Amino acid sequence: FSTAPASAAAAAEEPIQPAVEVKHTQLLINGNFVDAASGKTFPTLDPRTGEVIARVAEGDSEDIDRAVAAARRAFDEGPWPRMTAYERCRVLLRFADLIERHAEEVAALETWDNGKTLAQAAGAEVPMVARCVRYYAGWADKIHGLVAPADGAHHVQVLHEPVGVAGQIIPWNFPLLMFAWKVGPALACGNTVVLKTAEQTPLSALYVANLLHEAGLPEGVLNVVSGFGPTAGAALCSHMGVDKLAFTGSTGTGQIVLELAARSNLKPVTLELGGKSPFIVMDDADVDQAVELAHQAVFFNQGQCCCAGSRTFVHERVYDEFVEKSKARALKRVVGDPFRDGVEQGPQIDGEQFNKILRYVQSGVDSGATLVAGGDRVGDRGFYIQPTVFADAKDEMKIAREEIFGPVQTILKFSGVEEVIRRANATPYGLAAGVFTRSLDAANTLSRALRAGTVWVNCYDVFDATIPFGGYKMSGVGREKGIYALRNYLQTKAVVTPIKNPAWL
Ligand code: NAD
Repeated sequence: FSTAPASAAAAAEEPIQPAVEVKHTQLLINGNFVDAASGKTFPTLDPRTGEVIARVAEGDSEDIDRAVAAARRAFDEGPWPRMTAYERCRVLLRFADLIERHAEEVAALETWDNGKTLAQAAGAEVPMVARCVRYYAGWADKIHGLVAPADGAHHVQVLHEPVGVAGQIIPWNFPLLMFAWKVGPALACGNTVVLKTAEQTPLSALYVANLLHEAGLPEGVLNVVSGFGPTAGAALCSHMGVDKLAFTGSTGTGQIVLELAARSNLKPVTLELGGKSPFIVMDDADVDQAVELAHQAVFFNQGQCCCAGSRTFVHERVYDEFVEKSKARALKRVVGDPFRDGVEQGPQIDGEQFNKILRYVQSGVDSGATLVAGGDRVGDRGFYIQPTVFADAKDEMKIAREEIFGPVQTILKFSGVEEVIRRANATPYGLAAGVFTRSLDAANTLSRALRAGTVWVNCYDVFDATIPFGGYKMSGVGREKGIYALRNYLQTKAVVTPIKNPAWL
């Protein structure tokens, strides 16, 4: 049988010219675009071809020093933490309006630098970014402390103050959305920020950071440093002038970040890390719907999603039908230029990820899983990979244990609820899980028993700004989004004063 997707040829066409110009390639420090102190630059590549889109300033520890100094000044002396919360709210609201006004350019830049489809960037992600910014704008003037009852002899005000300078490090898979999840709550709470973008995708953050200044953000409040992890990223984590760190990326790098924070000034750290999320299909499920949802759960964003439903557990009674239909669905998936209408899957981010994914595919074959679809590259340039499906996988196989971060579905068979709970939880990760069933009892049991920060029941990848997101176990520390993200960016201060001669005694 054929394992090649019908649409493979689409990726071989001439790349479509993006309808956007790259305007910002320098570091944004203290409200100005500047070169790196070293004068160095690095290329950011078009994942469709591997060709250079632009050269970008390569920030290093000296630039991190400059950026932290600017953020420190803006926090210690500047207007941002001192203005009324309503004024901060209005700056963020104007920013959201500007994102919408420039939505086409922003989405095109994101697709160009990352390879995700324009339909997804323009239709879902840019609107979600504006929504997230507005959500936190709304919180700005609703954050307040409380009065503690204490002992009757003291008046105790509990103040919620901004933490100070927040260092934020984001990955390449959702560059803009991660920008919004990080910067939104930090700024709403009155903090200042130094943000390091991923070296693969520096462009969109620089573009929107400029819009934020157009919206009235005072200088030094948001500084954006492009550069590499072990240099610029590590310098930010170790910096004594940074009061709080927020990181999204791989679990291994998260451990380094935590260690650097601990060894410098014990700054608190929130981590959003990797996963190997189970997607569980019960025997009462509508198989066609389950196949489609399980497919989207893993192939969304070229499979480059920390919460990808990358272990598809299917009940033995529907297993054969499910595998056959999942194969058919994967073979129909349209791979091609992400700027083209109707394309569902663009290229992977870069050659490193591309090779790593193909090595995982080989390991699946070598370990005895059945390759039912895909398994190879698409075309001969850029980083396109066929939608790939493995059946008959076993829990101990590498493809069922490790984060592949690519368009590879791994289907496993199970026969009972207790069994699938045990197997689904037998992982160091705990970011998300999916459950597909018509039974309320099964949904309740599974959603409570699964050790994961999010359980999607009969849906997947629902990311509204109000919903907390984060991991159990080695998938992370803390939560982003919703009211939970505000806690990451606030300090708690108790102000205690004696009550002399209380009126009613
Ligand atoms: P990564 O964790 O190395 O990179 C994420 C961010 O951390 C980038 O901005 C990077 O520059 C920075 N970084 C790297 N080393 C650092 C260091 N020593 N100190 C401070 N910051 C540092 O991830 P990657 O190398 O881009 O991808 C590798 C794997 O990570 C992927 O295959 C995937 O499994 C996983 N990943 C997960 C997510 C997620 O959202 N959970 C996102 C991207 C990648």
